[in-house]
Amino acid sequence: VNEKAPSTRTELKRHPERGTEDPAAIASILDEALIAHVAFVDEGAPTVVPMSFVRMGSRLFLHGSQRSRLSELARKDGLEVCVAVSLLDGLVLAASAMFHSMNYRSVVLYGRARHVTEPSEKQAALSALVDRFADGRSQIVRAPSEAELAATSVLVVPIDQASAKQRSGPPADPPSDRGRPAYSGVIPLALARGEAMASPYCREPAPAPAPALKLARLKTT
Ligand SMILES: Cc1cc2nc3c(=O)[nH]c(=O)nc-3n(C[C@H](O)[C@H](O)[C@H](O)COP(=O)(O)OP(=O)(O)OC[C@H]3O[C@@H](n4cnc5c(N)ncnc54)[C@H](O)[C@@H]3O)c2cc1C
Repeated sequence: VNEKAPSTRTELKRHPERGTEDPAAIASILDEALIAHVAFVDEGAPTVVPMSFVRMGSRLFLHGSQRSRLSELARKDGLEVCVAVSLLDGLVLAASAMFHSMNYRSVVLYGRARHVTEPSEKQAALSALVDRFADGRSQIVRAPSEAELAATSVLVVPIDQASAKQRSGPPADPPSDRGRPAYSGVIPLALARGEAMASPYCREPAPAPAPALKLARLKTT
């Protein structure tokens, strides 16, 4: 898997001007996104699984069943993974087919995922994962039991071989294509919050907690 030296594999090739290895830029994308696509090789075949995740400092934490494939493969010496996280900001409609694009912010990171075995660290990662749903949520819900903790694996990946890339702005049509009759421009896209629906056995149906997420303001008109 690890054919390229760590220092060169995060180098962007196409549109390098859209990239950065600035830890703050990488952290801000990781903190806004909710889903990571985690890639690894199992018996020579590549696999990608979408997962929730949380960043704490310069480490990224994943969790799952102890019996999940990722967890099993990482058991002995850890597992080489590549994690991709992306935020879609808009559709870029150009005057010509080839210049259609997307506005986005994304991170690709490489590293070895290892099991977190220290109980307080494992607990902290699991709490941080729950707090991604709403600030302070881990403090007001039932904490995991010993059995639940034992059945759950937490994996940590260092964020030290990572790159961020982003595209923003209008289509990059060449002058010869401008002014064609088709619409050209950007259609912004964002994650939006819908109406909360309390569970039938919820004793405190309102107010629903504000999600600890960066969400678009829904336009009502
Ligand atoms: C929503 C979205 C849609 C996209 N659609 C397309 C598409 O249709 N076609 C296409 O060719 N590309 C698309 N891209 C860009 C794509 O992710 C790659 O950046 C691009 O293919 C360049 O690959 P490369 O061969 O230059 O670099 P590679 O050799 O593939 O990458 C070299 C290194 O650059 C870094 N890197 C590459 N891409 C990214 C990234 N997006 N974010 C952070 N680090 C990165 C990684 O560290 C990687 O190891 C899209 C990106 C996003 C987020």
